[in-house]
Amino acid sequence: MDFTEAKHRIEQLKAILWENSRKYYVENAPTMSDYEYDQLMHELEALETQYPEYATEDSPTRRVGSDLETPEIQAATGREFAKYPHRYPMLSLGNTYSIQEVEEFADRASKTLESAFSYCCELKFDGTAICLTYRKGKLFRALTRGDGVMGDDVTENARRIASIPQKLQGTGWPEEFEIRGEVLMPYESFDRLNHERELQEEPLFANPRNAASGSLKLLDPEEVGRRGLFCTLYHIPVGQVDYPTHDEALKAAASWGLPVSDKRRICRSIGEIEDFIGYWDSARKDLPYATDGIVIKINELACQSLLGYTAKSPRWAVAYKFKAEQACTPILSIDYQVGRTGAVTPVANLSPVLLSGTMVKRATLVNEDQIRSLDIHEGDWVYVEKGGEIIPKITGVEESKRQPGARIPVFPSVCPDCGTPLVREEGEAKWFCPNSQGCPTQIKGRLEHFVSRKAMNILCGEATIDQLYKLNLVTLPSHLYALKADQLVMLEGWKERAAARFLESVKASLNVPFERVLFAIGIRFVGETTARDVARHFGSVDAIASASREELLEVPEVGDVIADSIFRYFLDVENCREVEALRAAGLKMSVEAGAARRSDALSGKTIVISGNFSVSRDEMKALIEAHGGKNSGSVSGKTDYLLAGTKPGPEKLKKAAELGVQVIDEVAFRQMIEVEVIDGDGMAIDGDGISLSSAKNIAYAAERDIPSPGNTPHNNTDVPSSNDIIEPTLF
Ligand code: NAD
Repeated sequence: MDFTEAKHRIEQLKAILWENSRKYYVENAPTMSDYEYDQLMHELEALETQYPEYATEDSPTRRVGSDLETPEIQAATGREFAKYPHRYPMLSLGNTYSIQEVEEFADRASKTLESAFSYCCELKFDGTAICLTYRKGKLFRALTRGDGVMGDDVTENARRIASIPQKLQGTGWPEEFEIRGEVLMPYESFDRLNHERELQEEPLFANPRNAASGSLKLLDPEEVGRRGLFCTLYHIPVGQVDYPTHDEALKAAASWGLPVSDKRRICRSIGEIEDFIGYWDSARKDLPYATDGIVIKINELACQSLLGYTAKSPRWAVAYKFKAEQACTPILSIDYQVGRTGAVTPVANLSPVLLSGTMVKRATLVNEDQIRSLDIHEGDWVYVEKGGEIIPKITGVEESKRQPGARIPVFPSVCPDCGTPLVREEGEAKWFCPNSQGCPTQIKGRLEHFVSRKAMNILCGEATIDQLYKLNLVTLPSHLYALKADQLVMLEGWKERAAARFLESVKASLNVPFERVLFAIGIRFVGETTARDVARHFGSVDAIASASREELLEVPEVGDVIADSIFRYFLDVENCREVEALRAAGLKMSVEAGAARRSDALSGKTIVISGNFSVSRDEMKALIEAHGGKNSGSVSGKTDYLLAGTKPGPEKLKKAAELGVQVIDEVAFRQMIEVEVIDGDGMAIDGDGISLSSAKNIAYAAERDIPSPGNTPHNNTDVPSSNDIIEPTLF
C-alpha cells in the first residue's frame, strides 16, 4: 500500500467506524457485527501505527464511542437529558479475540509491575454501561457513559430498575462514591418486548444490548420499569474505597446490597484464565442474559494505579471477546437486491435455522468478492453468524456437504430490476446499477429515505411510495410537494382523513432544518452526523454546491471519500435541478441564522479553539456561536481569546503569547456564557445542563486524570432495599 492508498483507506475506515459507532451507541440500531467492527478498528490501528502522519486526534482509535444524544435525536424524540461530568472518566476496554493476545497483556503487566499480582476474571456483560453515585447511602445520580467524560442523566429511569437499590445496607460505605456496571435486558424480557413491538408494527431491537440501551433512555420512567431491566455492578474507581484488591472492593459493595455478580474468579496464571474462558464460552449459553466475553483485570489496586490508562482504556484490564454464535444450514437460492444508491447486494435465502434465539431465513453475502473468497457454490451448507445486527452474515462453507457438480453462482451482469448493465468502478467492492434516474428500486429507495423519520418525517410507508410511484405521481421527492387532496382521495385506499394527515405532514416537513434536508436528499456516505457538520460548516446548499474538494475536506471528520461524493453529487445536473425544485417547494436550504442564539455574552468576540474539551470541538464551536461569538481557525491580532482544552496546539499557544491574546480554559469559558438555571436537585446548571458546581470536575475529567481519595467510610443503619438479581451459580 503506498502513502496515498493508506491515507485513503484511513479516511474510509474512520468514516465507516464513526458512522457505525453512532448507529450502535446513539440509535441503538447497528448494521454491522461487533466482530466486523472490531476487525476494522484493528485495521485502522495498524495503519495508524504504520503511517503515524495520518493519525489524528479525532480518530475512533483514540476516543470512546459516544452515546450522548445528538441535538437531532433530541429534536426528533422530544427528550433531552441533563448532562453531567463523570468524576472519573468512563473508558472502554482493549479487546482481543485471541488467547495469545491475553498472554501478551499479562507479559506487559509483568514487565511494569515489580510485585506479585493476580487477575480477577469476570463475565463481560453485554448491556449498556451505567455509573451510579451514592451520597449518604442513597442513590443520588445515574449517568450513562456518554462520551466518557460527560454522561446523560438517567437517574429517574434507574430508580425504576428493581436491582438498583435506592438505599444502601450494611456499614462502611463512603459518604459519596461512584460505582459502575451494566444495565441488561434478559432474553425473556427482550423477546416479550420485540413481540409487542411486532404487533404494534414498530421497528424491532436488533439485540438485548440495544434494547437495554434504548430503554434506559426512555422519556417515561414508568415504561422503563415495565421493561424488565436489571443491573450488575463491577467497578469502583480507585481512590474511593480503601481495599487492597478489586475483588475485596466488590465484596464490600455486595455487602452494601449492591448487585455484584458472583461469577468471577481470582486467577494466578494464564492456564487458569484459559480455563475460566473455556468454561464460560459454553456455560454462558445457559445464562438468562447476554455476555460477549471475559474481562481480565489486574486484581491489586496498587498495581492498577501503577499501570494507569491510555486515552481510551485502562492498561490493567483487557476483554477477551467470544466469537458470535454460528449455525450451519443450506442455501436455497440467492437474490440480488438493489439499494437506493444502486449498489447490488447478494442475499442468500436459507433453510430456516435457530440462531441466538431467533429463526434465521436470509443472510447477506455482501458482494461478489465475498462470494468468491468464501468459495460459495449453489446449494452449499453455510455457517451463519448473528452478531450485533439483525441481518445475519455468512462466514464460511461446510465443503464436506457440497453436492457433486454444484455450480458457482453467476453474479448478474445487468440490474435485476431495470436490466441496465451493471458497472463496478475501480476501488469499489460492489457492482452498481448506473441507471440512478430510471431504475424503479433506486427511485423508490431514495423516496423512502427522503420521507423517513430522521429525514423529512413525512407520514408515508413503503406501500404508499410504491402506489404513488406506479401511478407516476411521485418519482422525485419534489413531486410530493405538488400533491393535492382531491388527487389523493381518488386513489385506491385513500380516505379524506388519510389524505389530510399525509398532506399535513408534507407541509410540516417545510420546517425541517437544513441539516436534515441535506441528509434527506441522500448523498452517498452522507449520514445524519456528516450532513449536520457539512451544513453547519458551509451554512447553505449554495455554498456546499460551489465548494471545491479541498474546501469540503476542511469540515472535521470529512475525508476524501465523503468529500468526493458530495462534490460529484453537485456536478450532476439532474441533482441540481431537483435541489432547485425542492427550494421552490419551500424547503429550507440554509442553516437558520440565530435559531440557536442563547445569549449575547460573546457578542463581537472572536475565539480560536484548540485541544480537547468535555464535549466535541464542533459542540464547543456551536456554543460560541449560540452565545454570539465568532469562531476563527487561526490566532491573529483580531483574536480576543484562545480557548484551550487539554493538549492545545503548541503553535497556537506560542502565537497567542506573542500577540498578547488571552488564553482561557473550558471552565473560564463556561463561566463567561453562564446562564443560571436551577435543576430538580437544587444544583445550579447552565443552559447545557452542566453542573456549574462541578465545573472543576469538567476540566478534571477532561484531563482524564485519577483524583486522590476524597471520602471516608461511615456507618449507617438504613434498611436495605430489595435486590432481585437472580443469577445461576455455574462457576
Ligand atoms: P466494549 O464493549 O468492548 O468494552 C467496554 C465495556 O464493557 C465497558 O464500557 C463496560 O460497559 C462493559 N463491561 C461489561 N462487563 C464488564 C466488566 N465485568 N468489567 C468492565 N467492563 C465491563 O467497549 P465499548 O467501548 O463499550 O464498545 C466498543 C465495542 O462495541 C466494540 O469493540 C464493538 O465490539 C462494539 N461496537 C459495535 C459496533 C457495531 O456497529 N456493531 C459499533 C460500535 C461499537
